Amino acid sequence: MRYPKLRELKEAIKSLFSKPYTSKFPFKPHEAFDGFRGKPEYFDEYCVGCGACAEVCPGNAIKRIDPIEPVKNKTEPQMRRMELRYDMCNFCGNCEAHCITEKGIQLTKQFNLALFDRKLAVEEIEKELVICELCGTILTAKDHLRWLARKLGTLAYGNPTLLLVSQRELIPVESGNQGAEMRRPDIFKVLCPKCRHQIMLKDIWG
Ligand code: SF4
Ligand code: SF4
Repeated sequence: MRYPKLRELKEAIKSLFSKPYTSKFPFKPHEAFDGFRGKPEYFDEYCVGCGACAEVCPGNAIKRIDPIEPVKNKTEPQMRRMELRYDMCNFCGNCEAHCITEKGIQLTKQFNLALFDRKLAVEEIEKELVICELCGTILTAKDHLRWLARKLGTLAYGNPTLLLVSQRELIPVESGNQGAEMRRPDIFKVLCPKCRHQIMLKDIWG
C-alpha cells in the first residue's frame, strides 16, 4: 500500500508544475487536435456529385435530391442537390472514407455546432445533371462523367456518352433531334444505356 500512495503523491506534485490538459474553451478559442472528426463539409472543386456519400451515410444525414420530373433538352441546367444535415451526423467519417475523389467531402475540426434553429444545420452543394436526350432519364452529374472520362483515359473512347461529354469540353456538339426517330448514327448522342440498346436493336432488327 505504501508505494502506490507515494506514486500518487509524486503525480500530484508533478501536476502542480505541468500545463493543464484541458483548454479554457469557451472563454478562449480551442483548436481541435489533428484527426478530430468534426462537422463534414463539401468542397465544390473536388465533389463531382456522384452521390456515393449519401449511400454510405449510416445516419441518413446526407440526401441526394434530383428533380422529380427531369426535362430532356431543357436549355437551363437541371441540378442535383447534395444536402447534408449535420445535426443528424454522428461523425463516423464514412462519407469522407468512401468519397470517390477522396476530397469531395471532408470532416473538419469544427466542433462548436450548437444552434437555436436546427433547420439551419444544413450544408449543400449543387451539380448540373446530364439527361438522356431520348427518354429524359437522369444519367448522373456532368462533373461525375467528366471525372470518369479523366480516370479512364483512352478507355473512355469506348463509351459514347463519356466520349461525348469529353468532346463537348472541346467543341460544340449538337444535341439530339427530338422530332425525328433516332437511328444507329444517333448512338453518339447523350443517351441512357437502355435507349442506346433499343436503338441498336431497332436498327438491326427493324
Ligand atoms: S460523418 Fe458519417 S453520419 Fe456524418 S455525414 Fe458522414 S457518413 Fe453521415
Ligand atoms: S464526389 Fe464525394 S462528396 Fe461528392 S457526391 Fe461523390 S462521394 Fe459525395
